[in-house]
Amino acid sequence: MNYNANKKGYYGEFGGAYIPEMLYPNVEELRQYYLKIMAEPSFQKEFNRLLKDYVGRPSPLYFAKRLSEKYRTKIYLKREDLNHTGAHKINNTIGQILMAKRLGKTRIIAETGAGQHGVATATVCALMGMECVVYMGEIDIARQAPNVARMKMLGATVIPALSGSRTLKDATNEAIRDWINNPVDTYYIIGSVVGPHPYPDMVARFQSVISEEMKWQLKEHEGKENPDYIIACVGGGSNAAGAFYHYLDTEEVKLIAVEAAGKGIRSGKSAATSVLGKKGIIHGSKTLLMQTEDGQITEPYSISAGLDYPGVGPLHAHLCATNRAEFLAVTDDEAMKAGLELCELEGIIPAIESAHALAVFGQKKFKPNQVIVLNLSGRGDKDLNTYINYFKL
Ligand SMILES: *Cc1c(COP(=O)(O)O)cnc(C)c1O
Repeated sequence: MNYNANKKGYYGEFGGAYIPEMLYPNVEELRQYYLKIMAEPSFQKEFNRLLKDYVGRPSPLYFAKRLSEKYRTKIYLKREDLNHTGAHKINNTIGQILMAKRLGKTRIIAETGAGQHGVATATVCALMGMECVVYMGEIDIARQAPNVARMKMLGATVIPALSGSRTLKDATNEAIRDWINNPVDTYYIIGSVVGPHPYPDMVARFQSVISEEMKWQLKEHEGKENPDYIIACVGGGSNAAGAFYHYLDTEEVKLIAVEAAGKGIRSGKSAATSVLGKKGIIHGSKTLLMQTEDGQITEPYSISAGLDYPGVGPLHAHLCATNRAEFLAVTDDEAMKAGLELCELEGIIPAIESAHALAVFGQKKFKPNQVIVLNLSGRGDKDLNTYINYFKL
C-alpha cells in the first residue's frame, strides 16, 4: 500500500485538485515548483534555521511518568505546545512563507476559523515583512476576539466574511475569490493538509519535522526509533500528518487518529468525519466530508475550535479507508476531563484539541511494555475561557 500522494495528488481515491479554471495558473505554478524549491539547500537551510531559532525546535519528547503510571503503559508526549505561538501550525506557515518568497510573491492571504491559523500566518508575515490579509467569518470574529487582536497587533488586515453561515467555509470562499483576482503577486497559505494538490502533500512535508525528530528522540529514550502507537487529534489533519509521516510505511507502528464527537457522534452536533463523512469535494480536493443527502456541507460542531471542521484531508481519508490508521471519536466531555487530568498529573495545560487525543487512554487499553507517543499539538492558554466555563473555575 502507498500512503504518499502520487503525481496528481491522489492518496488512493482521495485528493486531486478540483479547482475553478481561473485558479489553475496559481495552483499549477505551485505544483510545478514546490518539490524543487523544498529540495534546494538554501531553502532547507533557512527553513531549519527558523525552526530552530524562531520556533524553538526540536520540541521535546517528554516521558509522562505519572500519566504512564495511571494508565499502566509508557506514554511520551511530543511537545508541540512549546513551539512559538503555542502549537504545531507555525511549522507549516514558516515553510509556506519561504515558499511564497521563492516564488516571488509579495502579498499573503489566508483564511481562518478560530483564528489559530490566522495568527500563525500573521506571525510569519511580520517576520518576513510581508503584507497579510486574513479572511474570517463574521461570527468567528465575534467569538474569537483575542485572536483577532493578535492578528491586528501582528500587522494583518482581518476581513470579515459576511455570506452564508459566516464561518470558516465562507472565509475560505472569500480567500479563494481574492486569489483568483490577484493571481500574480499573491500567495495563499492554507493551514492544514487540505485544499487542492499540492497543498496536502506540501503541508504534510513541512509538518513531517515532528516525526523526523520523534525517531531520534525515541532512539535516545528507548534505544529504538519505533513506538508501538502514535496518537494525534485530527481537525484537517496536519499535526497528525506530521506525527505519522515518517512512520506511514512502517506498518508495525500503529496509528490512531482522534476526531471530535462533540455532544455524541450521532447527536447532530459532532465533527466525526470518519464515521459520518461521505465522499465529496471540499476546498478543492476529493475527500470524506459531512454532508446532507443533497450534498450540502453540514455545519460541524466541537467544543474545540481547531477540530470543528466538516472534512478531513485526503491523506486521512485514505488512512481511514485502508485501515492504516484507527479512527476514534472523543466527546467534548471526555476531552475536557482528559485535559484537566493532564494538568493535575503532569502540570501541562493542553489545548482542547490535544485533550481529545489524551482521552484515548480512557477508551483503549495499552500494555505495560508498549511505547505510545502522543502528539501534544498545542497549549491550552487560548482555551482558558472554555476551561473556566466548563469546570466553573
Ligand atoms: C488547529 C489545531 C489543530 C487541528 O488542526 P490539524 O490540521 O488537524 O492539526 C489541533 N490542535 C491544535 C492545538 C490546533 O491549533
